[in-house]
Amino acid sequence: MYDVVIIGAGVSGSASARELSRYKVNACVIEKAEDVCSGTSKANSGIVHAGFDAPVGSLMAKLNVKGNEMMEELSKELDFPFKKNGSLVICLSKDDMPKLQVFKVFWFVDLKKKMF
Ligand SMILES: Cc1cc2nc3c(=O)[nH]c(=O)nc-3n(C[C@H](O)[C@H](O)[C@H](O)COP(=O)(O)OP(=O)(O)OC[C@H]3O[C@@H](n4cnc5c(N)ncnc54)[C@H](O)[C@@H]3O)c2cc1C
Repeated sequence: MYDVVIIGAGVSGSASARELSRYKVNACVIEKAEDVCSGTSKANSGIVHAGFDAPVGSLMAKLNVKGNEMMEELSKELDFPFKKNGSLVICLSKDDMPKLQVFKVFWFVDLKKKMF
């Protein structure tokens, strides 16, 4: 009998299972594929989102910032390569310039405020 059953061993299920392993919880992970993270979690763009393009005040903005901050420590604990090489955000027409300016303000000056 399990206390918790996690269905799906993508990054969310795997991270949840890892967190639960710190407690006295009898948990199991059920994955339909032949290995962990073989779906979306394996084939995304490989960007650790910084939170600058998520809607201000959204859960996504908060978790992007928090997750980004956690990544360096996680890479050491779990022994995976991680390099902070920044992002290049471009606009394809002059009309998009105002959006780029907003990103710049939030990213460099106001990003922390997105968490609250
Ligand atoms: C094209 C693309 C690019 C992306 N780029 C980025 C990026 O650069 N950076 C970023 O942070 N995020 C990115 N994302 C988002 C990110 O990849 C996902 O949010 C994340 O991988 C979702 O993880 P998950 O564990 O919730 O889901 P999944 O990775 O989809 O894991 C779900 C798991 O559940 C299993 N499953 C499903 N149904 C069952 C069942 N009935 N029984 C048992 N197992 C089951 C699946 O096999 C799978 O392994 C991208 C997404 C896409 C689509």
